[in-house]
Amino acid sequence: LKEGVKIVRQDIWQVKAMRMGSITLDRSAMTHFKGKGEIIEVPIWACAATNGEVNIVIDTGLHDLESARKAEPGCHQKPDEQVVNAIKNAMGWSPADINYVINTHLHYDHCGGNAFFPQSKFIVQRTEWETAAKPIASEAAFYIDEFYGKKAVKYFQWDFADEEKDILPGLKVIPTPGHTRGHQSVLLNIGKGVLCVSGDICNVADNVNGNLEPNIVVNTQQVYESFALLRRCADFILPGHEPSIKNGESSDFPPVL
Ligand SMILES: [Zn+2]
Repeated sequence: LKEGVKIVRQDIWQVKAMRMGSITLDRSAMTHFKGKGEIIEVPIWACAATNGEVNIVIDTGLHDLESARKAEPGCHQKPDEQVVNAIKNAMGWSPADINYVINTHLHYDHCGGNAFFPQSKFIVQRTEWETAAKPIASEAAFYIDEFYGKKAVKYFQWDFADEEKDILPGLKVIPTPGHTRGHQSVLLNIGKGVLCVSGDICNVADNVNGNLEPNIVVNTQQVYESFALLRRCADFILPGHEPSIKNGESSDFPPVL
């Protein structure tokens, strides 16, 4: 190589899906009016990711079922679906091994276990953190302060993102608003392509692939813009509640069409 030519390091991330519990609900809750009247049980997904040096948890699932059931009465969680048990089983990790926790957003089923990581840095969009302190009426039930307030995550643990942000080689966060005002997705280079850990901008792969919004939406136009962005960026997707993914899945994620 000529002098001055920089090699851009582009790590490959190993990602493993971790089931954090489940929600019994009407299918149309995931896919706007489609599938109405069909009751299904959908998983709640988080995942673990590592490049061999840095360990990351994306979303921390449910914690306090009693609080969660005020927002969504159909929540369930088994002991091995609690985040500390799940990272031990999936990766052999303890909370002290986790360098970063990334929250796609601060709804109760995506940040419930945040308090278990007092030594980790937390990455969230600043807008989401601010939104969580002053939710609009329709979303208030989904924001439960005990999971992300200062008793759970100390202020200096937060590393706010204001837009798209490179976190590490081969791993970045991008704003994907619409489900919440400050929602973000995580893009990871997994070798065979780019995986998007989409949180709830896509509850299921059918949202982006069918161009079909989820039910919980604060800005419809932004939802469709976020779908278009994901189609440009990602080859595969790990949605927040996709039923076809298996616990521990690490390679066979649904494609983004
Ligand atoms: Zn959500």
